[in-house]
Amino acid sequence: MKTRQIRRALRALVSPAVTTRFPDTAAPRPGGFRGLPVFDEAGCVGCAACAAVCPAAAIRVSDPRPQTGPRKHRPVRVIRLAYDACHFCGRCEEKCITGRGIRLTAAFDLALLDRGLAVQTVEKELVACETCGRHLGTRAHLRWVADRLGGLSHAHPALIRIGLEWEDTPPSAAEGRIGREDLFRTLCIRCLRRVRLLEGWGPKGPRP
Ligand code: SF4
Ligand code: SF4
Repeated sequence: MKTRQIRRALRALVSPAVTTRFPDTAAPRPGGFRGLPVFDEAGCVGCAACAAVCPAAAIRVSDPRPQTGPRKHRPVRVIRLAYDACHFCGRCEEKCITGRGIRLTAAFDLALLDRGLAVQTVEKELVACETCGRHLGTRAHLRWVADRLGGLSHAHPALIRIGLEWEDTPPSAAEGRIGREDLFRTLCIRCLRRVRLLEGWGPKGPRP
């Protein structure tokens, strides 16, 4: 018994190591390895699809409250990824509408003493309805939609304006005074419907 153990110990002494040299040298990762998700600011349009599909709620979206009246600052959407909550499932990368807004890297050595450092954010300007202040989406997302639709985007006034990079006109009319002259403003779907009903049926609306 003892002889066998000594023989094994001697063999182990001259055999190559079976453990890796981590952390000095990272072990090679297999193809398809899913590590730290990282946003690509340029590839992201701020649509929030990744937050909608994240099963761990590791990606969250915060939009400011809609504002009516003159605005000093353009509203901004903040998308926040807290990777200490991430499961590394890859759904965000798989469902990203541009295919390049977020990707899972090979980074896996992610331990931190301060969880506040495990956060990445992307900020994208929101487009607000010029009349009621509701958000239509981010400017980059609407431009992406307009590009994909091509000529079909001309069916929607807000997409025409965004596609042609027209500046928003400052909000002037109160929501209750919306009129046909507002048809080519940047309007949310609710205000656009009101203008179209006014245009088609007059101030009294459709007959019963
Ligand atoms: S990899 Fe999965 S859990 Fe992690 S952020 Fe993406 S969707 Fe969420
Ligand atoms: S473009 Fe991709 S990464 Fe950016 S918010 Fe949309 S789904 Fe997320």
